[in-house]
Parts: sequence; structure tokens; C-alpha cells
Amino acid sequence: MPTPKRAEHKPKRKLSLTLLLMALVTMVFLLTTTILLVGSYQSKKKSLMATTLNLNYSNADRMSKTVDSLFRSMRSSLLYGAEKISAMDSAEPEAIDEYLELMRNSSNYFNSIIRVDAGGKVLNNSPAALGMVGKQIMSPPVLEALRLKNAYLSPSYTSSTTGRILFFMSEPLYNKDKQYLGQLGGTVYLQDYNILNMIFGNNTVDESGSYYYIVSSEGHLLFHPDKARMNEDVSDNEVVQRMMQGQSGEMMGRNTKGVLMLAGYSAVPANGWGVVVVSPVKVIKDQLLAHLRKIVSYTVIPFVILLLCVFVLAHRLAKPFVVLADLVNRIGKENVELPDLKPHWNREVDLLTKAVVIAWTDIQKQTNQLTQEAMTDLLTGLTNRRSLDLSMSQWIAARVPFSVIVLDVDKFKFVNDTYGHLAGDEVLRQVAEVLTANIRPGDVCARYGGEEFVLLLPRTRPEDAYNVAERIRQTLEKSKVPLPMQVTSSQGIAHYPTNGRTREELLGKADEALYTAKHTGRNRTVIARE
Ligand code: GH3
Ligand code: MG
Ligand code: MG
Repeated sequence: MPTPKRAEHKPKRKLSLTLLLMALVTMVFLLTTTILLVGSYQSKKKSLMATTLNLNYSNADRMSKTVDSLFRSMRSSLLYGAEKISAMDSAEPEAIDEYLELMRNSSNYFNSIIRVDAGGKVLNNSPAALGMVGKQIMSPPVLEALRLKNAYLSPSYTSSTTGRILFFMSEPLYNKDKQYLGQLGGTVYLQDYNILNMIFGNNTVDESGSYYYIVSSEGHLLFHPDKARMNEDVSDNEVVQRMMQGQSGEMMGRNTKGVLMLAGYSAVPANGWGVVVVSPVKVIKDQLLAHLRKIVSYTVIPFVILLLCVFVLAHRLAKPFVVLADLVNRIGKENVELPDLKPHWNREVDLLTKAVVIAWTDIQKQTNQLTQEAMTDLLTGLTNRRSLDLSMSQWIAARVPFSVIVLDVDKFKFVNDTYGHLAGDEVLRQVAEVLTANIRPGDVCARYGGEEFVLLLPRTRPEDAYNVAERIRQTLEKSKVPLPMQVTSSQGIAHYPTNGRTREELLGKADEALYTAKHTGRNRTVIARE
């Protein structure tokens, strides 16, 4: 059969004041910091989002205005060129070539400029390296422009001959008789160095992940950090859709890759294009984290200082409790000296210290009194039998030779019976006085019981003890008592180690001697026989 396990009672670990206060302070700190952080996080997030959206919108707006005036300039450059060429004699193609070259290089608006006749044949081109002169144009946007016989802006498209991604804008050519002569067109190569990256820079994604892009009115990318994405259809994007409706503003939404972005967008009035400036929401999260980290770093040092202060304070607060508890624990077990307990700065500790000191002093007084009372005889003030036994035992243990005198008042029953108990008590007190007056400082004098007294005389031979006993007897015999009779006493003497080696033996021998003294007439002293 399995033996039942005895339930173990482990003493519960008690929480120290220091730990308690430190835990409390830590908790308060964590709670406060959390509230502070959450509040700060929320408001900072709001303001950062608003700031970013605002900044992106103002950038988009600024860019949109630039694109607008740029487009207008490009348009007027073409218009002016068209007028100029219409006025030129088309029999001088070199002069027109020269003019196109000048037009292209002076403004840098276009990567190439061509003049086509109404049938779609290329008459002039700049740069000459294009080598398109005399060739029939097949590109649909150019054919569309020829069909419309008007100012034209193409969507972005990929050239079937060169494979370039570009857009094309043109102005019609008319002679003085308003006869249609063809188109003067300029192209912008979207993936090459062009007027857009001349104005807006290389358009790389910055370290925060922010970037900008331009879309055509059809929702195709005209300008984007990723050159490979030029001409890509992004009309699904909500921002692009809003711009295609001619709106400008700011919004949070996902980009084509599904990344949450803060976008500022602005439509370009001149051509229906749109400019978008976006920053990933993650930028804000990073900034927020940095902000929170800063707050935490600001609070950590004060917290550590606070915790240290609490530690010191709690330690100082707890210490007197430990000292007092230790003091109270030792009361009664050993003879403790009351340590110097200074007034404490803490009201409660000070009250407790004072109370313990008062209680301790009272207890000490009472203990002393009780000890004293336990060792003395109330009637005579001499030491009592208990104290005498203790002294005897100690002397025997230390092998100190001594004499014992047992003194018994003669016919004391008669005193009591004749003059009353109170008179008897008075006689006993007088005997005690005589005894104390006749002994030396190292001697012990006790009331052993009734009218019997015992004297212990250390390092005293029986003969010398006899002299002491006789002196006492004679003094008592002569002393004045308030009675019409004289009080006498008889003494028996024994010696340690001569008459015995134990208390009982010694007292027995002394009693025997006393008995002899009583039986041989009283008022005398007898030394026990060896
Ligand atoms: P003996 O000479 O043989 O010693 O005679 P005694 O009368 O002294 O002897 P006994 O021992 O018979 O009497 C002692 C008396 O002492 C008895 C008791 O009444 C009295 N007595 C004992 N203690 C006290 C006390 O404290 N006060 C008073 N007044 N009397 C006491
Ligand atoms: Mg007696
Ligand atoms: Mg007696």
C-alpha cells in the first residue's frame, strides 16, 4: 500500500517593503508611460499623416502647375514653329531642317521634331540621324493627327519601328490660302533623357520611400521612378481615376503593388494629365517609432533615479521595523541593552519606536522587579531560600570552601503565642538587621524559612564562623526589642567540604549541630562534628 504523503507546509515568502514599494513605483511608471505613449502615438500619428498628406498634395500641386506651364510652352513652341515653317518656302528643305534643329536644341522640349505632309510622308526631321525623310509614316497617333488636321496630343505608345516609348504632340501646317499641308510634330521619349527629367530630376525613390509620377489622361504612366513601367496602364488606381475626373486632393490608398500610401494628387488643366506624390504609410510608422523611442529614452533615466530613491527610502523605512522586531524578539530571552533609538523622520516608525521603547523599559523594570522579588524575602528583605540554594550550588561547583551557619530563634512560638504574630514579625526583622550588620560583603545571608536564617561565609573555617555566630548571638541577646523579654538564638555550623559535599549534607550537618545547641540549653553555637 502506498504511504500517504504528509502535507508539507512551506512557509509563505513574505513581501518586503522595499520590493513592494519598488513594484508599486514600477507599476505606476509603466501605466503612466503606457498612457503617455498611447496618447502621444495617436496624436502624433494623426498629425504626421495630415502633415505628410498635406506636403504631398502641395508638392503635387506645385509640379502640376509646372507641368501645365511646360505643356503650354511646348504647345506655343510648336504653334510658333508651324507658323514660321508655313511662311517658309518649302522648296528650301535645308532651311527648314536648320530651323527644326534650332527649335529642338534651343528649348530641349522635344527629343525629336518631324514635319510630315498631308499624305503622311516625312519631309524634315531633327535630329537628322533619325533618317526618316522621304519615308511614309505608319504610326497610328501621327495618322490620327493627320486625319484630325488639328492640334493634337497623343497618348503614350510604343513606336513600332524603334520600339521607343514616347508621346507625340503636333500642330497643323496651313499655307496662306488655308490649304492643309500636314503636321509639325514633336516627340518626347519617355525612357530617355527628356524635358520631364530635366525639370523634375532623376525621379528616384527617396530614402523614406516617397516618390512621384505623372499619368496621361488615359491613365498611362508618363513619368515614374521605374523606367520599365512607362506607358503602363494604371487607370485601376483610385488616385488616377480621381485625376482622370479632373480632381485634385489627398487620400490614403493602396498602390498597384498593394502598399498603403499617402498620396497628394493634382490634375493638370492644360492636357488632362495628373501628378501624384506618394509616401508609404510605413514612413509614418518609422517616424512614430522613433518618436516613441525618444519618449521612452527620456523617461528611462528619471525612472531609474526614481527607483533608486525609492529603494533607498524603502530601505531606510524598513530598517527600523527589522531592528524593533529583533529587539522585541530578544526581550525576555536574554539580557538586552536598549540600543540608542534615534527619532525617525517617518511619523509611523517614530510612533512605533517610541511605543516599543516605553514598553521595553516597562517590561525591563517589571522583569527586574520580579527577579528581585523572586530572590528576596518580603518580610526581612534578605535573600530567600531559592537564592541561597543557588549560591551554595555555585560555590560547591566552583569548589569554594565555605562555612554554613544555621540560626534559629529560640522559643519563637512562645513570642508569637504571647505577643502576637505582628510582634513576631518585628522580631524577625530585627534579627535580619543584626545579621546584615555582622556580615562581610562577600557573605550571603538568607531567611531560610519561619524563624530560621542561614549564613554562607566563603573561605571561612568553622572556628572563624563560630566567632561570627557568637558575635551575632551576643548582639541579639543584648539588642533592644519592643517586648518585655529578651530574644535569643541558637546556631549550628557546618563546613564545606569538611562536613559534606552536597547542599543537603551540609544543611543536614548544620541542622544536627543546631539541634544539639537547642538540646544543650539554647542561646549558643555548636560546630558540627567532622
Ligand atoms: P525552639 O526554641 O525549639 O526553636 O522553639 P520555637 O518555638 O522557636 O520552635 P518552633 O519551630 O516550634 O516554632 C516556630 C514558630 O515560628 C512557629 C510559627 O508560628 C512561627 N513562625 C514561623 N514563620 C513565622 C513568621 O513568618 N512570622 C511569625 N510571626 N511567626 C512565624
Ligand atoms: Mg524553628
Ligand atoms: Mg525556634
